[in-house]
Amino acid sequence: MKTKKLCKNGHTFYKSSDCPVCPTCEKLKKEDVFSSLGAPARRALANAGIKTLKQLASYSENELLKLHGFGASSLPKVKELLTRLTNMKN
Ligand SMILES: [Zn+2]
Repeated sequence: MKTKKLCKNGHTFYKSSDCPVCPTCEKLKKEDVFSSLGAPARRALANAGIKTLKQLASYSENELLKLHGFGASSLPKVKELLTRLTNMKN
């Protein structure tokens, strides 16, 4: 039996188990984790092999600024993303 569920972001999905994970959110999380950053900053992170928020969290601000294409204007957005990571853990 599949149950219709509605996630906190408004996606409707069907799950047979009682696992509350929304497939749409999961997909968005994987694909668009740095979507709030500008293209050059995203490229800089990709070139450095940073693909997840967890990886991003292991870099200091100074280290990020050394990446080619990563500007200081991206730092507030990075901080915002890392805040989200912290909230996810709690
Ligand atoms: Zn969702």
